[in-house]
Amino acid sequence: MSEIKENALMEKIVSLCKRRGFVFPSSEIYGGFNGFWDYGPYGCRMKRAIENLWWHEMVETRDNIEGLDSTIICHPTVWKASGHLDQFSDLMTDCKDCKSRHRVDQMEDPTTCPNCGSKNLTEPREFNLMMKTYVGPVFDNEHTAYLRAETCQPIFVDFQQVRNSARQKLPFGIAQIGKAFRNEINPRNFTFRSREFTQMEMEFFCDGEQGMEWFEYWKEQRINYYKNKLKFTDDFFRIYEHEKLAHYAKAAIDIEVKFPFGWGELEGVHHRGTWDISQHSQFSGTDLQYIDHDNKRKVMPTVIETSVGLDRTMLALLGKAYDEDTAATQKEGMEEDVRIVLHLPPLVAPIQLAVLPLSKKLNENAEKLYKDMNRYFRCEYDVTGSIGKRYRRQDEIGTPLCLTFDFESAADNAVTVRDRDTMQQERVSIDNLRNYVEDFINR
Ligand code: ATP
Repeated sequence: MSEIKENALMEKIVSLCKRRGFVFPSSEIYGGFNGFWDYGPYGCRMKRAIENLWWHEMVETRDNIEGLDSTIICHPTVWKASGHLDQFSDLMTDCKDCKSRHRVDQMEDPTTCPNCGSKNLTEPREFNLMMKTYVGPVFDNEHTAYLRAETCQPIFVDFQQVRNSARQKLPFGIAQIGKAFRNEINPRNFTFRSREFTQMEMEFFCDGEQGMEWFEYWKEQRINYYKNKLKFTDDFFRIYEHEKLAHYAKAAIDIEVKFPFGWGELEGVHHRGTWDISQHSQFSGTDLQYIDHDNKRKVMPTVIETSVGLDRTMLALLGKAYDEDTAATQKEGMEEDVRIVLHLPPLVAPIQLAVLPLSKKLNENAEKLYKDMNRYFRCEYDVTGSIGKRYRRQDEIGTPLCLTFDFESAADNAVTVRDRDTMQQERVSIDNLRNYVEDFINR
């Protein structure tokens, strides 16, 4: 791995993301729109892969977690009950000289403008982060609604409905993946702080007596996921234990990872007590307590939350994966002196296997093999340019395996498979290819 300075790394990642169509500014032909990003072909493949992995780990492999896909706009009282309308705000200040705007809690020195150094700042004032819209034909207070600021509130609101229809008993969880919107004062660090982003949240409901046990359980599960599935090593990963807790919370940690600009929060695991369900019971007038028929009692469920940003996961993975390798190029007889490579975990790489025929004459059989493999893995077929150039194109988007179909392949029913990281090549029988790739991806 080469040492790339943090500032330079961010620039390189932003540039690669645009060049190769991972992520680029929204509405760019109109000058972009601050805090909004579009995901292109490789970006949405990777995003979808992360989403599917999370869903598989959190929902599909567990009997006691159910899924939900709620609306983005909910009844406005939801946000009154959750506290967002009254409290979901940051302190902001404006620089009267350079006109830049800042979040006070993110300023190293709240009396000095971080942009121009001026001391001529406005008094800090509260700024609510909820995005407003109107529902219906009249644009007044009565018709004001909000885009959800987090995906978890509808989970609490629908708690009883999901529990009844899925016939779940405590303890059980509800998971949701979806868009969230925050009118961030100062969107920055590429997709890290956006105004529209995707969250993957799971709310686990249990009896308060077991709350701390489940908190520890979910903390461990989430750490294992990052280490074993997304391959975060200790130098990229740390846990921050909250000392100051919300008045209702019992325990909270942030999972922090090293982003291209430095350390930042990727996920929160929170013991939220009975706050959420109590609030929605009170504001809706619907008793959301759980009736424990076995012990003939009512329980106000305690909530353990795991909440992660999908965009931040992708940014952290790209930062961790990016490398410029100088030694490798000579090995494959290439003229350029640097190989740009993303060492992405194969489970979430946008393309997992590239099929490269050595010559166009081999198209027919190679394409057949590509179509076959594409049923099991995310594959790409590439016939243009020298084989070395095609390897480089795949290295740059993080494809872990490239398969070369050559003139021998039809005769010996085998192909050459090249490993992105070691650049080692191996002859693999076509009959065994699917198993080989599967083992490689899941190792
Ligand atoms: P921060 O302190 O960085 O503003 P937060 O503590 O407000 O984040 P939560 O409300 O706990 O974040 O949201 C859960 C997760 O959603 C975060 O850990 C993060 O991954 C993601 N997230 C939150 N805000 C943003 C944003 N503006 N852009 C992208 N992802 C975000």
